[in-house]
Amino acid sequence: MDEQKKIPVNPSRRKFLKNASLAVGGAVIGGGIVNNLLGVKAAAADNKSADKVKPKDLETESRFLVKNGLVITLEKSDPDFMNADILVENGKITAIKPNMDISGVQVIDASGMIVMPGLVDTHRHVWEALVRGIGTDWSIGTYLNTIYFQELGGKLRPEDSYIADLLGALEALNAGVTTMLDWSAINTPEHADALIQGLQESGIRGVFAHGTPITNILTYWSPDSTYMHPWDARRIKQQYFSSDDQLLTMALAIRGPEFVSIDVTRQDIMFARELGVIASMHVGVGIAGVQKKPVLQLRDANLLGPDLNFVHATTLTDEELKLIGESGGSLSSTPEVESQMGHGWTAVGRYIAQGYRPSLGVDVVVSTGPDMFSQMKFALQVTRAIENAKILESGKDVGKLSLSARDALEFATIEGARALHLDHKIGTLAPGKQADMIFVRSTDLNLTPVNNPIGLVTLCANPSNIDSVFVAGKAMKRNGQLLNVDLDRVRRLANASTEYVLSKFGPTPQF
Ligand SMILES: [Zn+2]
Repeated sequence: MDEQKKIPVNPSRRKFLKNASLAVGGAVIGGGIVNNLLGVKAAAADNKSADKVKPKDLETESRFLVKNGLVITLEKSDPDFMNADILVENGKITAIKPNMDISGVQVIDASGMIVMPGLVDTHRHVWEALVRGIGTDWSIGTYLNTIYFQELGGKLRPEDSYIADLLGALEALNAGVTTMLDWSAINTPEHADALIQGLQESGIRGVFAHGTPITNILTYWSPDSTYMHPWDARRIKQQYFSSDDQLLTMALAIRGPEFVSIDVTRQDIMFARELGVIASMHVGVGIAGVQKKPVLQLRDANLLGPDLNFVHATTLTDEELKLIGESGGSLSSTPEVESQMGHGWTAVGRYIAQGYRPSLGVDVVVSTGPDMFSQMKFALQVTRAIENAKILESGKDVGKLSLSARDALEFATIEGARALHLDHKIGTLAPGKQADMIFVRSTDLNLTPVNNPIGLVTLCANPSNIDSVFVAGKAMKRNGQLLNVDLDRVRRLANASTEYVLSKFGPTPQF
């Protein structure tokens, strides 16, 4: 195939969807007005000098010793927590043991800190940081109609995509997320370059999942689409991701059989396999998942495999969940937004019942906070609520809970690393692994006294407790402050871009 297939957009269907969406929200309000109401003074967007990207000058110590911390390694062979020191050399952990005394090495004092693996978010539409908060009262229908079918996501210029991903990656780092998969939308090749630039500048470890456009939406996002994934992904792979030995690696964010035909899905998966990258897709989203049985379609087409990542899976059958696990694929559950928007009950408990372990993601900051603490809490407590309700309905009281805080913490760390095929590098603290670690300040009132470290960091902590963040041994945050980043510049560019995007979009459903 020398060029991508093209079909004409059906304007009548598009108009219908737009009108249908406008009827959903009730009150309408323009983006510019919102910013004015909030007192946001957007900076002039044409300030070219301000748009220049400064190279990141991270604090790098090639060798340092973290002393006096309470360490959670999450290695099966280690206790749940221990007093230990961690030696880091050239970005890697080389030793974890108590009372190391090494002359001439820089010491980082972690007294009063819980030291643990960085959190791993396996599903986030990072660019949506630019339209943060507009969907706190949205259902999945309103979300899809607004962001996709009315093409809010198509209004971004490349410079908007750049600052969106920089902002989104910085907020993740600030909240202790050291690795995340960015499920992107690529309107033009220049947008892809800009998104990657934003991620690179942040310094986060990540998987850039190259996506499809949100312009002329039905070209790509329709059961009738005959467009396969944009071929510019091949250039992106060659230009930015020729090596796996770097902070950023690549995936394809494909539409999958719930949003396009199985034939187009086959082309997209074969393209991902040609590039040697994971293909990630949304499945089991509300009624569509029930009707389309996407994983059964993939099985019947002989397409399942360990390089597929499935997001949500809320309304899949148990049989489909089992097929994902059996094939070596991975599940990204985003339980907070699933609870809000009507995707269905989190699939975490049913997936575990099939014998497999899920990973977690924030998904959309249009309606949720950017942190994995909330996702761990939702995954654990909603799953417990489902199980407890079943027991109560049987006329019995609840006994021992089946899922623990440690389970949820593993979902947000090592299981995320497994889902992204990065578990040989990250996800636990162990000699030989990359020094992706965070310090949680256990002297904060909400974490004092430290009676149950794993329980505290899973269900009682929040981003304000994150004192320090390291990615491959580089300090990204220390003493509660992100390092080497001009946050005023980030705020100014983000405010200017959100003003532009929302003003181009016009009326939106109720905020
Ligand atoms: Zn998503």
